Amino acid sequence: MGLTSQLNRHYRLMIRQGKYPICYLCGFPITKYNEVSQDHLICKSIGGKTIQENLCVAHRICNSRRGSLTVQQWFDRQRE
Ligand SMILES: [Zn+2]
Repeated sequence: MGLTSQLNRHYRLMIRQGKYPICYLCGFPITKYNEVSQDHLICKSIGGKTIQENLCVAHRICNSRRGSLTVQQWFDRQRE
């Protein structure tokens, strides 16, 4: 099993126990199993690796909204 699915499993278990992980992109808790996703801090497209240090838990929707923005660009955009 890949690291991404291992982490997703871990967070889904937390949700089942009522401990909601916080989406690092929007700051809101992730309350549903199917909203859990692992976001690459450094995008895979520019060489980011699938290692724990490069992954953060985020809503699936926030993850796809971020797209290819860097984390910095994402947070700059949130302030506008
Ligand atoms: Zn989010």
